Parts: sequence; C-alpha cells; structure tokens
Amino acid sequence: MRLSRIIGLLIRVPLYALYGAWALVVGSISLIGRARRGARLLSSSLPCPSCGAANTLHGRWKCRGCSAVYHGFVGHCPLCGAGASFFPCAKCSVSISLGRRP
Ligand SMILES: [Zn+2]
Ligand SMILES: [Zn+2]
Repeated sequence: MRLSRIIGLLIRVPLYALYGAWALVVGSISLIGRARRGARLLSSSLPCPSCGAANTLHGRWKCRGCSAVYHGFVGHCPLCGAGASFFPCAKCSVSISLGRRP
C-alpha cells in the first residue's frame, strides 16, 4: 500500500515537472511576444511596409470610431477610448499595422 503510493508519486512528479516546464516555456514565449509588440509601439515611429518611410506614432489623427480629431498617440482616441489596429502611411497611404486589435 505504502510502496504503491510512493511509486505513484514517483511517476507523477516528473509529469508535474514536465507540465511546469511546459507552462513556463509557453508563458515566457507569450510574454516575449507581448513585450516585442509593446516595444514596437514604444518607439516614436514605425517604418512603412511598402515605401519604408518612417511614420511617427504621435501626431494629429482622425478617430475611425467617433470621427474626432485628436493629437497624441495614434493608437488611442482620448475622446471615445477607441483603439486603432493600423494607420495609413503619410507618404503612400499603405496601412501600417500597430500589431494589436482595437
Ligand atoms: Zn474616438
Ligand atoms: Zn508608405
């Protein structure tokens, strides 16, 4: 009875360790992805995927949700709180992704 409990524990411990390691890997990968997306938005400009022009993330924008014109960070309307997932290139109007959902 006691031996079988010990054996059962010995079988379960590596499984828990594996699960812990897996959870740690998945967690750190999603954290790195989130940090990367965040760091992308922390920079003051993003390059256009089409013409390569540097587009500033701070300036004068028109909200797609409430059509208010606001000044500041492109991804957040201070009037209605709507977020933007992309914005047009100032040079060629190609959409530049902000890497997140509105
Ligand atoms: Zn708005
Ligand atoms: Zn462009």
